[in-house]
Amino acid sequence: MDTLPPPSPPAAATDGTACHGGRETLDAAARAAGKSEVMDKLAADYPRGPHDQPQSMCPAFGSLRVGLRMRRVATILSGSACCVYGLTFTSHFYGARRTVGYVPFNSETLVTGKLFEDIRDAVHDLAKPEDYDAVIVTNLCVPTASGVPLELLPKQINGVRVIGIDVPGFGVPTHAEAKDVLAGAMLRYARNEAEAGPVARPRDYALDQRSIAVIGELFPADPPGIGALIQPMGLTLAPQTPAREWRDLYAALDSVAVAAVHPFYTASIREFRAAGRPVVGSAPVGVEGTDAWLSAIGAAAGVKPSEIEAAKARALPAIRGALAGNPVKARITVSGYEGSELLVARLLIEAGAEVPYVGTAAPRTEWSAADRAWLEAHGCHVQYRASLEQDIAAMKEARPDLALGTTPLVQKAKEMGTPALYFTNMVSARPLFGPAGAASMAGIVAAQTNGRERFSRMVSFFEGVGTPDGAGYGFRDKPSDPPGFRERQRKLRAAKAKAEEAVGT
Ligand code: SF4
Repeated sequence: MDTLPPPSPPAAATDGTACHGGRETLDAAARAAGKSEVMDKLAADYPRGPHDQPQSMCPAFGSLRVGLRMRRVATILSGSACCVYGLTFTSHFYGARRTVGYVPFNSETLVTGKLFEDIRDAVHDLAKPEDYDAVIVTNLCVPTASGVPLELLPKQINGVRVIGIDVPGFGVPTHAEAKDVLAGAMLRYARNEAEAGPVARPRDYALDQRSIAVIGELFPADPPGIGALIQPMGLTLAPQTPAREWRDLYAALDSVAVAAVHPFYTASIREFRAAGRPVVGSAPVGVEGTDAWLSAIGAAAGVKPSEIEAAKARALPAIRGALAGNPVKARITVSGYEGSELLVARLLIEAGAEVPYVGTAAPRTEWSAADRAWLEAHGCHVQYRASLEQDIAAMKEARPDLALGTTPLVQKAKEMGTPALYFTNMVSARPLFGPAGAASMAGIVAAQTNGRERFSRMVSFFEGVGTPDGAGYGFRDKPSDPPGFRERQRKLRAAKAKAEEAVGT
């Protein structure tokens, strides 16, 4: 055995507390179990918002998905069976078609440190170079809170890289940022390899190319679209981050500049910067966004001003034409957790929409600063780390013709008779950049807003169904509340609201 046994976890971490339990309790348990450095790093990279987490899906889904989408990469989860069941189910719901490894535990293996030994054995079994380039092991909430020391796993076995990450729901606020936890860890590993000596040549890689690395999971038509925008500057597109294959990491690191299209990849950006690559925020969205972005990318890549102007001369008239041909006439609120919400709002405004509010679950970073300033100058309130309550309150106040948002927000909108679209499935599943992006929004907005009258009819048809409190108990007596229940709940809600207000944004 080449590693030390882990310390015993504190009892507090093993009492079944999970994402429905207290964040502070689990954070304290993780620190007591030796994970202070990990928790400090997560807190610095992904500052928390005003609300407890997670408010949507388990954050670990983000990092799991990044691993599952890579060729020749195996993923192993270490966590409670119920968490692993949910994560596995969701992975396959989204078409993973790959095995999710799992090392189960019970109270005894967790407390004695046997879980770590089981994980190490599983990694040794799996690390076959003919099958895999890398094995990813992810600690979920309970193993993180219990201090299961993945950092003591061997760094490689028979040439197969081993990467252990902690992705606890009480430390990583959103599944979007969890993607960065793994992407950053892999970039770090690959950067160290490249700095230590020769590495495998990336596929379709020309030694003389000058490429731009794009950060963010994009709609498939968008990367070629960005490639066409930068081509007049003599630039090509490097493989995206998160990567699809291990050797793509080397190609991304070998870029001349980086486009942080999704602005929350803090750990990944740190690695690109450590490799000496300049990083540019915002994205080529709409006319003004594309104009500014081409200038910034060109300057970061050391492109001659004449070539930057040539790129603009090719791109901007086409985008202007697409926007003019596809006007959006509606008031729209935008909310989501993808990280592209500000860009979508910019595009809608340039197309003619009124966007009074955009809420994003992502944190405020320097990479979206230009978008925030532009939106605020156009009368839009930008809410980082937006809670569902804030999104709903904004929607109620703005009374939009269309609400773009998460599932619970869309549900609320429909209850109000407001046309609404699910951001992830409908908006993120369309091009956003260049001329293609400019033409993509008008159709879905018109289709929804034209159906407004239908929503009103549905609301009046269902008026009163399921209300008031106790509806549906016609066949027997309505159960009565325990004494004092409502008052206790009212006080709890008031205390929570006060605490959230104190934390602020
Ligand atoms: S791993 Fe995910 S589902 Fe499990 S307790 Fe943590 S946040 Fe909740």
